[in-house]
Amino acid sequence: MESVEKYFGSMVFDDKVMQKRLAPDVYAALKRTIQDGRSLNLSVANAVAAAMKDWAVELGATHFTHWFQPMTGITAEKHDSFITPDNNGGVIMEFSGKELVRGEPDASSFPSGGLRATFEARGYTAWDATSYAFIKDGVLCIPTAFCSFSGDALDQKTPLLRSMEAINRQALRVLKLFGNENVTSVKTTVGPEQEYFLVDKDLFNQRKDLLYTGRTLFGAKPPKGQEMEDHYFGVLKPRVQAFMKDLDEELWRLGVLAKTEHNEAAPAQHELAPIFTTANIAADHNQLTMEIMQRLAKQHNLVCLLHEKPFKGVNGSGKHNNWSITTNTGVNLLEPGETPYENAQFLLFLCAVIKAVDEYQDLLRVSVATAGNDHRLGAHEAPPAVVSIFLGSELTEILEAIEKDEPYGAKEKELLRVGVHTMPKFPKDTTDRNRTSPFAFTGNKFEFRMLGSASSVSAPNVMLNTAVAEILKRFADELENATDFETALHELIKRVIREHKRIIFNGNGYDDKWLAEAEKRGLLNLKTTPDALPYLVKEKNVALFTEHRVFTERELKSRYEILMESYCKLINIEGRTMVDMARKDILPAVSEYAQTLCNTLLSKKAVCETLDCAYEQETVERLSVLSGKAHKHVKVLEKALAGASKLDGATELGFYYKNKVLPVMEKLRAAADELETLVASDYWRFPTYGDLLFGV
Ligand code: ADP
Ligand code: MG
Repeated sequence: MESVEKYFGSMVFDDKVMQKRLAPDVYAALKRTIQDGRSLNLSVANAVAAAMKDWAVELGATHFTHWFQPMTGITAEKHDSFITPDNNGGVIMEFSGKELVRGEPDASSFPSGGLRATFEARGYTAWDATSYAFIKDGVLCIPTAFCSFSGDALDQKTPLLRSMEAINRQALRVLKLFGNENVTSVKTTVGPEQEYFLVDKDLFNQRKDLLYTGRTLFGAKPPKGQEMEDHYFGVLKPRVQAFMKDLDEELWRLGVLAKTEHNEAAPAQHELAPIFTTANIAADHNQLTMEIMQRLAKQHNLVCLLHEKPFKGVNGSGKHNNWSITTNTGVNLLEPGETPYENAQFLLFLCAVIKAVDEYQDLLRVSVATAGNDHRLGAHEAPPAVVSIFLGSELTEILEAIEKDEPYGAKEKELLRVGVHTMPKFPKDTTDRNRTSPFAFTGNKFEFRMLGSASSVSAPNVMLNTAVAEILKRFADELENATDFETALHELIKRVIREHKRIIFNGNGYDDKWLAEAEKRGLLNLKTTPDALPYLVKEKNVALFTEHRVFTERELKSRYEILMESYCKLINIEGRTMVDMARKDILPAVSEYAQTLCNTLLSKKAVCETLDCAYEQETVERLSVLSGKAHKHVKVLEKALAGASKLDGATELGFYYKNKVLPVMEKLRAAADELETLVASDYWRFPTYGDLLFGV
């Protein structure tokens, strides 16, 4: 068998391949583009394209595509073949530099939130040379950004790249103040941990709710749920193991650093974590991972559910966004250092994150707001909807000592003076075993844990990068003008701690007392997507994004529309699916079963008036009451769904779905789920929770 070292990255046009296949001057020019973001001239692009094509054709590729991430949440690709007529009735395989660096897909069918008038329906895609091209299913994929002709971002990648530039600019200013002469660029790094469910495909196909919406809209609690806690890190079932083996192999061929795979808390739930890499590449890789998980699952007659809450009453799936900042010299800026000087620098970056998360908590919340994630946040399985930071007791005590000019620890006699004293060492393991915090410091990085499993990691990192860039900018403005750097630094750090310590919370985030406490501290608690999304276009946030050239005001408004619209569309589909299932499957099954019971009842009575008919009698009565209720709720739901068409304006519509549609869906579900517990198995028309969760 081929060894992993041999085939790892074999489908990637990576640095090794470039070095081997490109002329030295072409390679050097491309490297400069990758490192400093300089644009490629056409002759270099042509040479790169030709080499890329030869490489891809040797590996069996026939087509190429600009691979991009529109606002639909999934990736898009349009395949073009390499063939060109050779004038002798045959073909040759060709790929030009122009085709490599720029594509012009018809953009009219992608969400644009009103950005793109129909007369400029075309958009263009531009190669992100920092993310390597790769071959997937015989197609050479070029990772690209996607914009309208007027330059508006229509995708997830463009703002992410812009936000990485923003934090690079400002972090370099701060690093210069500490005398880091060798540092020429700073990048954010991301390691996203991905949760998902696997269910049997035959069972999946029997449920319209899973088919249409990715989650179960009905389903009574099974006799066994996750209460035994026997699934977490449990032994993998053979089918799951076979799937994971294939998944690893395919991801490794694509250069994705898939590292750990294990069972999660809920039955049928699993997790995959890669080794971290540069933010835009991590985002591309996570998108690829989700895509490949779904495709490979089918080959094992499984379906991979990426929905945040596929099953009511069972833990949902999230994504943990591990994030840090690293210099081109290899220094992790969130790693506490060895010397007073390194510690001062660490503390300043730490304070930048604390201040950024406090001032822009609304944006972090917005970045994880989706209809699916609303079912998890605050439901005692995922962090609450309130953003707070976990630092661990050691680091918190250090900050307190600095703020109050008090000695730290039992042994320290002296005051902890930033830039003069070495920070006491704290063991990494103690920094975080608190799983309830939305935003936790884990020794040398932060882990943002509010993300839903299905989302792209781009938006959260755009928010984080831009907010931290803004704070670093303010720090640099202040410190560049200071007469005495050390004193100014010490005072700045003290002030940040004093002003922003409200965001630090080391306790249990699932505890309701925390919500009351958070309210007292003035932290936001944006419970649902319609509550959160409007914050995206608040004046202070528009100012932030325009200042750092991450979004224009137009782009922000369009994003707001797109996000709210997709929330509404999703709930609309869910509502319609419920009506369909209730009318065509659930109520008919109940009627049929009630009829059987009535027949039995009549037969029994005919045999002997005094036979015990309590089961038939009482069950029919209960079925009648509940099906009457369910039927009533179906009608109310139909009316509510129809009512939405009379409204317009994304905001109004969003709140309408939240306040008028979701509550009726809940009521219908409650009646139907109780019916499920009463109707004989033979009559129920689709697989139950028990079948789905324990069926693999
Ligand atoms: P856990 O959260 O289960 O304790 P780890 O702490 O080992 O797991 O790592 C979780 C994720 O954090 C991994 O994907 C890892 O690659 C990533 N990670 C580690 N260091 C960094 C960093 N400096 N920047 C971004 N992600 C990181
Ligand atoms: Mg984690």
